[in-house]
Formats: sequence, structure tokens, C-alpha cells
Amino acid sequence: MVLDALTIRQNYLKVLEQIYQAALRSGRDPSQIRLVVVTKGQPIEAIRAVVEAGAKLLGENYPEEALPKIEALQDYPVEWHMIGHLQSRKAKLVAQYFDWFEALDSVRLAQKLERILSEQGRRLPVLLEFNVGGEESKSGWKAESSETWPALLSEIELILNTCPHLDVRGIMTMPPLTEDPHRARQYFAHSRHLRDFLARAFPNASWGELSMGTSVDFPLAIEEGATIVRVGQAILGPRPYP
Ligand SMILES: *Cc1c(COP(=O)(O)O)cnc(C)c1O
Repeated sequence: MVLDALTIRQNYLKVLEQIYQAALRSGRDPSQIRLVVVTKGQPIEAIRAVVEAGAKLLGENYPEEALPKIEALQDYPVEWHMIGHLQSRKAKLVAQYFDWFEALDSVRLAQKLERILSEQGRRLPVLLEFNVGGEESKSGWKAESSETWPALLSEIELILNTCPHLDVRGIMTMPPLTEDPHRARQYFAHSRHLRDFLARAFPNASWGELSMGTSVDFPLAIEEGATIVRVGQAILGPRPYP
């Protein structure tokens, strides 16, 4: 079922209000938090409705699914964020059509993107993805235990030093879904500590962005420091094409 444009608009405004309230609760400036509306599995008319309502950042997980949408909405001033795991044979699509890549998870992929971007003479803002919950199904560098963080530094350093066309801005995490707000908060705080650890290790790079929080938990993520939240179903409804 696709939601009608009025409902999508109301949902969008309600999420903006919740972002605003969560920011105020935690003494943060609401303008420092950005909303990526996750449009995977949603048809063009739903996406157009949320863009007409004011959405500026859109998130997709699969390049092939995103391309027709990017094309159909090219007259709107929107930024497309690739938020899903990227197979390296599709790196070119992301380098060409997306404005941000939030799920960089290996040196190999970084170097492939670097080659393509340097040919295009283009820099791409990226976030490094970390797996903070230890789930096998999730991608990202494994970062469940802070004791293993130092072992990640050499790969991150390699990316920072050898990929000048990747504009590293921070990190992204997708913690395990949990009904327990206390646990969710712990995963978000853990993500923030990891970001702070990287910022101390590489003070010359930029680590300002912390992308975390989805429909079920974005207010908590904001209270724990998220600068980007990625919200789909709370705005666009259940995905008609999962
Ligand atoms: C699908 C997805 C989201 C959004 O999830 P919703 O439940 O629709 O809010 C956020 N981040 C990633 C990486 C996703 O794959």
C-alpha cells in the first residue's frame, strides 16, 4: 500500500517535529541534525510527495533501484545518499549518481571508488560503516568491543592516506533492532564513542558526522549524538516492494 501525499506530508512534518524535540531535550541545536528520508522499496509518487513536502536528502540501498528514481526526480534539488552495502562491481554507479556514500566498509571498495572518482575528477563525501552489534547479517567493520578498535586503525589510515577523492566525514552504524530503549541507547552511545576514538586517532580528518537511528529509534539516536538520522517507514509507510 502506498500512502497518499497528504499522509506522507503529515508524517514528514511529524518526524521533523520529533527531531526538533529530541534535539532540544538533549541541549543540541536542531539545525545540526539532518534527516535522510529512506525511499527504498517505495514508488516514485511516494518519493515525489515527500520531496514536495520539503525533503532534501533521500536514501537508497540498491543502485539499480535508485537510478530510475534519481532520473525521474532530477529537477528537484535533492541529495541522494547511498546507505546500503555496495558490491564493488557497482561502485561506478555510486560514484556517478549519488551525492553521498554512507556505507563504506572495506579498503578494497575504497580503492575502487578512488580510481573511478579520480578519473571523473570528483570527490564523494563518505561515511565509514561500523558493525557495533556483532550481527553476522550486518556489514561494516566489526566494532562490537572497544578492545578491537585499535586494530581497525591501520585500514582506516590507509583509506585516509590513499583515497584523496573520498571525503571522509564520519561514521554510520545500524545497531541491532531492540525493543529495549536502554539497550538501543547503549548501542548509540557506543557508536558515538567509536567516532570520538577515531577523531582522536586521526585529528586531521573530519569526523563530525554520526549517522544512526531509523524509524523506530531516531529520537534516542539524536539524544546520543546522531547528526544524520535515516528514516523510511515512519514517513512513507510500510514498503510496498520490500
Ligand atoms: C532501510 C534502512 C533504513 C530505514 O529504515 P526504516 O525502518 O524504514 O526507517 C535506515 N538505514 C538503513 C541502512 C536501511 O537499510
